[in-house]
Amino acid sequence: MRRRRRVKILATLGPASGDQAMITRLFEAGADVFRINMSHTQPDRLREMVRMIRAVEEEQGRPVGILADLQGPKLRIGTFAEPAVMLDRGATFVLDSDPTPGTAGRVFVPHPEVLASLEPGHRLLLDDGKIRLLVVETSPTAAVCQVEVGGRLTARKGLNLPDSLIAFPALTEKDHRDLEAALDAGVDWIAMSFIQRPEDLAAARKITRGRVGLLAKIEKPQAITCLKEIMESADALMVARGDLGVEMPLEKVPGLQKQITCMARSMGKPVVVATQMLESMISSPVPTRAEVSDVATAIFEGADAVMLSAESASGQYPVEAVATMNKIAEEVECDPTYRTVIRDHRAPPERTGADAIAAAARQIAETLGLSAVVSWTSSGATAFRVARERPAMSIVAISPSLATGRKLALVWGVHAVIAEDARDQDDMIDRACRTAFSEGYARSGDRIIVVAGMPLGMPGATNMVRIAYVGAEAAE
Ligand code: PEP
Repeated sequence: MRRRRRVKILATLGPASGDQAMITRLFEAGADVFRINMSHTQPDRLREMVRMIRAVEEEQGRPVGILADLQGPKLRIGTFAEPAVMLDRGATFVLDSDPTPGTAGRVFVPHPEVLASLEPGHRLLLDDGKIRLLVVETSPTAAVCQVEVGGRLTARKGLNLPDSLIAFPALTEKDHRDLEAALDAGVDWIAMSFIQRPEDLAAARKITRGRVGLLAKIEKPQAITCLKEIMESADALMVARGDLGVEMPLEKVPGLQKQITCMARSMGKPVVVATQMLESMISSPVPTRAEVSDVATAIFEGADAVMLSAESASGQYPVEAVATMNKIAEEVECDPTYRTVIRDHRAPPERTGADAIAAAARQIAETLGLSAVVSWTSSGATAFRVARERPAMSIVAISPSLATGRKLALVWGVHAVIAEDARDQDDMIDRACRTAFSEGYARSGDRIIVVAGMPLGMPGATNMVRIAYVGAEAAE
């Protein structure tokens, strides 16, 4: 089974897609990686979902990626004595450390770190930015604010602080519990929410110790100010446009998406574009023209993956949403301008053996019109660097590690195949040809290019590139 597109599709699971039959249908429609959102999932349910995804993987005979998305320090206000309060423009509203139910004049903030980091002049957003406050006075126990944009406010609504660097631990207690459960269950990627600085990833890294890839969700202005450093510390990135569009002016989000995808591509880190991509498909079987164009834009930018959230988790048309993304991707990638746009945004290789080999492999394969780049890879590192080149032909990654194959499910253009390591160089070339043939990436008489590190199994030793002829024996 092979996909006819390079960009990957990430589908969030939820009540609309929580049984094995539906997971199978989503996979068959095009989902490459399943996301489990820990904001709405208990550890027991996570284990159950991972078990079902692994059963589908076994049934389909293809490595499937699983991403557990940690909630992170999502801030919320406390409760009110009434079901709702009205905040009027120009009125005073106080956030404080008093846990009693609030009024139209005050509310409890159950996060002491927030009150400690607010300063006069900071903006404060409630309920996904619908209500806006300006801090005018602070003390360790209260922040007096002026209502700039008012509205109706109910209990436990989200709180965003675009101007304040909050002294949060990178992982909340809930994140710790969820992370342990996700590692135990055997997920492949962990997404970290609301990270503000590169050190936030280090705390998780100490626990994960290389067992999973760490994906940094970019959704805070503070993260934008140290984007390069965060990218260096992360294994992958997400343009988390939902919260990013609350904390930053909405009109800045498209430019930031371009900046993040471009920088991630240049560093060779997989990048996912997320949120509201086919939002109307939550309740409609067809998307809007603008949504189709939004998905297409991310694909033209060369993103590694496009993501569905509520569309596949709780919408009425989860399978149709995945199938729609699949169709858009297949069409865009055949568009005559696609290759030119992708090529124009390619960064030069870094001065490493792996990049020199990956760039050479792409150049040779494109010059000679070869059918595929076949990469032997144990940790996946070689395949990541080949994918960074965004070659015109498919990338087949052969790895002895199922964990590597699953992780590569998120990476642009990579079709992973699990097989034991080659015995020697001849075996490596012979099996690369047979695999490209049997997986449908080369025909008898075609040529492919093989990339590897010799001796095999030594991560970081990419040092070999060879053109190979796919003979009739590949079919035997
Ligand atoms: C986002 O904010 O865009 C996002 C993907 O995060 P979440 O769905 O967890 O809010």
